[in-house]
Amino acid sequence: MTEKKYIYDLTLDELQELLMDWGEPKFRAKQIWQGLYQNLWQNPKEFRNIPKDLQEKLEEHISFSHLKPLTKLKSGDGATEKVLFQLPDNNAIETVLMEYDKRRTICISTQAGCALGCVFCATGQMGFKKNLSSGEISEQVLYFAKQLKEKDEKVTNVVVMGMGEPFHNYDQTLAAVDRLNDPEGLNLGARRFTISTVGLVLAIKRFAKEKRQVNLAISLHAANDELRSSMLPVNDRYPIQELIAACHEYVEITHRRISFEWALIQGNNDNDEDAHELGRLLEGLLCHVNIIPLNPTEGYEGKRSTKESVSNFQNILEEYAIPCTVRIRRGIDIQAGCGQLAINN
Ligand code: SAH
Ligand code: SF4
Repeated sequence: MTEKKYIYDLTLDELQELLMDWGEPKFRAKQIWQGLYQNLWQNPKEFRNIPKDLQEKLEEHISFSHLKPLTKLKSGDGATEKVLFQLPDNNAIETVLMEYDKRRTICISTQAGCALGCVFCATGQMGFKKNLSSGEISEQVLYFAKQLKEKDEKVTNVVVMGMGEPFHNYDQTLAAVDRLNDPEGLNLGARRFTISTVGLVLAIKRFAKEKRQVNLAISLHAANDELRSSMLPVNDRYPIQELIAACHEYVEITHRRISFEWALIQGNNDNDEDAHELGRLLEGLLCHVNIIPLNPTEGYEGKRSTKESVSNFQNILEEYAIPCTVRIRRGIDIQAGCGQLAINN
């Protein structure tokens, strides 16, 4: 038996083709598309805009969900929610919803696990399991979009900062972004997406050439190769100078500002010289630095920096006219913070 096609893996054209193969008129595809991405229907029976026999045929031949919510956790302050989903192949992933003022941000995963082994990251500590399909990536957003719709709210932002390295699963990740961005679908503007990469230089160059309006974040964490390689093994393959050269290329082509992420770790990358080195490295580049005080993970002993070191670090970057913000720590009590997503099985 062949596996059922999964509806969220299909583009509108592919859906059209499938329905025409079934002898259905072309416009049915648009009706189903609207049902999926605008009405957020998740079950063929909900598709009141199509005939009953087509609902039944869809139910029989097409899979409408790959994500089975296994556990849901809410942070003490109620503003962060993390859901653990099981996939049909028994792998599992996590997705996080963060509510902050009027923002409703979904942090999505692109892989189960990750192959890149950054030492302080719980996902890296679990190793690589599999790439998610475009449908499995988009369904995470649609799941929360539906939940928010019930409260008359909408997803405002998507950050591709959950489990996995999005540029190791480039095509599926960008296909998911395109589908969620589609004006005839969920219609979430490209600028509302941020993709975070550990710094895969070839993929950054490709991304630059595609001239998307999607925001790019780079996990930097250290401004010299010795220190960066000790935390991010991928730095041996793409050392800092190559990475920063690719970033300059990106800004030249797209005129868009890059965000650099810096997990601030006590005594490791948080002293004056680290800040000066970073300032010198980024001087003249259209960018912004996002400081993330280290979140605890089981496999790493480092500690987050003190408040004083954080503001000291920020002050030094200001001397180089580099804008810098400290990311608010969210959902740490439910292990939903940056780098804390992992499946223990
Ligand atoms: N693979 C991508 C996206 C997922 S990680 C990447 O590495 O960019 C999202 C962000 O969380 C990255 O900047 C990552 O370096 C950071 N991070 C990982 N572990 C962390 C931890 N324990 N504390 C704080 N930030 C962490
Ligand atoms: Fe993978 Fe990103 Fe974690 Fe590094 S920080 S192990 S690239 S998910």
